[in-house]
Amino acid sequence: MEEKTTKIVNEEGGLNFVEQEIKNDLEQGKNGGRLNTRFPPEPNGYLHIGHAKAIIMDFGAAEKFGGTCNLRFDDTNPMKEDTEYVDSIMRDIKWLGFDWGDRLYYASDYFPKLYDFALRLIKEGKAYVDEQTSEEIAAQKGTPTEPGTNSPYRDRPVEENLDLFQRMNAGEFEEGSMVLRAKIDMANSNMHFRDPIIYRIIKTPHWRTGDTWKVYPMYDFAHGQSDFFEGVTHSICTLEFVPHRPLYEYFVKELADESYCPRQIEFNRLNLTYTVMSKRKLLQLVKEGLVNGWDDPRMPTICGLRRRGFTPSAVRDFVDRIGYTKYEALNHIELLEHSVREDLNKTATRVSAVVNPVKLIITNYPEGKEETIMMDNNPENLDEGKHPMPFSRELWIEREDFMENPPKKFFRLSPDKEVRLKGAYIIKCTGVKKNDDGEIEEIYAEYDPETKSGMPGSDRKVKGTLHWVSVPTAVDVEVRDYDRLFSVENPSAEEGDFRDLLNPDSLKIRKGVKLEPWAAEHAKPEDHFQFTRLGYYTVDPDSKENHLVFNKTIGLKDTWAKEQKKA
Ligand code: ATP
Ligand code: MG
Repeated sequence: MEEKTTKIVNEEGGLNFVEQEIKNDLEQGKNGGRLNTRFPPEPNGYLHIGHAKAIIMDFGAAEKFGGTCNLRFDDTNPMKEDTEYVDSIMRDIKWLGFDWGDRLYYASDYFPKLYDFALRLIKEGKAYVDEQTSEEIAAQKGTPTEPGTNSPYRDRPVEENLDLFQRMNAGEFEEGSMVLRAKIDMANSNMHFRDPIIYRIIKTPHWRTGDTWKVYPMYDFAHGQSDFFEGVTHSICTLEFVPHRPLYEYFVKELADESYCPRQIEFNRLNLTYTVMSKRKLLQLVKEGLVNGWDDPRMPTICGLRRRGFTPSAVRDFVDRIGYTKYEALNHIELLEHSVREDLNKTATRVSAVVNPVKLIITNYPEGKEETIMMDNNPENLDEGKHPMPFSRELWIEREDFMENPPKKFFRLSPDKEVRLKGAYIIKCTGVKKNDDGEIEEIYAEYDPETKSGMPGSDRKVKGTLHWVSVPTAVDVEVRDYDRLFSVENPSAEEGDFRDLLNPDSLKIRKGVKLEPWAAEHAKPEDHFQFTRLGYYTVDPDSKENHLVFNKTIGLKDTWAKEQKKA
């Protein structure tokens, strides 16, 4: 066990309600003044942003008060677990910026102790082997207002229970043929107290313990005890465990003494609009190929968010903003996006890309001439310096930035109108060339050599500024645009099959996006860029030597901030 926690946080305002409870316990010297939390994932899927909220709570509180946080794999169900999940969970926690150091544990390490504890309960007449089917057991449970019925096996002699439980573990009986139940109270108003099942037979080998065990503890029999064995002081979990708390306390009290007893505290889950958070549903999306893997950038998984270009600090900022309460809520994805935008605005390098290109020819600019324009890497932080961008007679601009017959407030390019090409010159449109279908193929313009940005006397004002990429040196890249994964705000609240609610247009692939050469040369997987006027884009690991792929992380328009201003 660790020595006493010394660092006590004083600023009341900065603490959430769980931290406040922790602070009180520490001040009262409970558990010798120690703080030890744990994050207990079951390795049966990838972590999602909901888990990030739990991780930030568990590791964050330990950091705040100078305590420790364990990573404990809750590997009590060999049928669903896999090392692939273990590895991904560790990677994701580290990515969020936390480290368990040497405090890595597995519930399976406690199988011998848990088994001994079960034997002890049997000997004390507090557990029995039930041979009924799960349906029969369920039928006897009663309802919250009606008491349950005792099992016919409830009063089996201790010796018989001991013998049967040991033979269950020796593999003598089939899965489902018997279970071990705690003998508590079939009339208790808390349904979890009505002789809960604490051990079941599973014959699938376990990925760590092989076929050593044929009986496996249920969650309620493993969790609190694992906390106890590890010296955990504060077992922080989500609200659905509130009704389990008395049982947690019941088992833990059998083990604890006055000097140390872990305590469970619950907070509200993170739920996000336009997505699902259930591991079962996420697994289904992956297995059925409805998304491209766990790290598909549309997924709410941590690896999905990372691939999309969301950052650890943005996730932490978002969790900070939604806070920890005792009430369930649905959190808006726009707020998460707001946090991402705020973070990337500070750090992403600004470059020029044209996603829907049309050619602009500056007819009075010499053929074959090339100028180098120095562009700010980040106007929010001029210390980031500048990078070179070539300018020439032929440029790519966005098709949407030109209109032949514009409405009144269109300040981009149209016949006889002027705009500034960002960082370069003011140009005036002189005409267009169309193909046989009437589609614009080329736009013509003349530039004013006296208007080069940054030159003395160049500050003539025009309403619009367009981004552009020089044709001869542009690099073709692929851009993947994303929309909401589901087309309804709260898919989990809808009836019917959740898969029918998927947004069919959540992924659009654009090829032939024109990128300025400096960016193409410097882009490495997971690098973040702001494509000027378009949004934030992150280099996808699918990128190859001559084929860069970008994920659109998020557009520039902040719908959240706008809504907040209106409100
Ligand atoms: P399962 O149904 O497989 O148990 P789970 O999402 O609860 O799914 P765990 O691996 O048991 O997965 O979760 C580890 C921890 O993360 C638990 O303490 C759980 O309370 C917490 N957690 C899970 N989902 C959320 C969420 N949406 N918001 C906050 N915490 C969560
Ligand atoms: Mg769970």
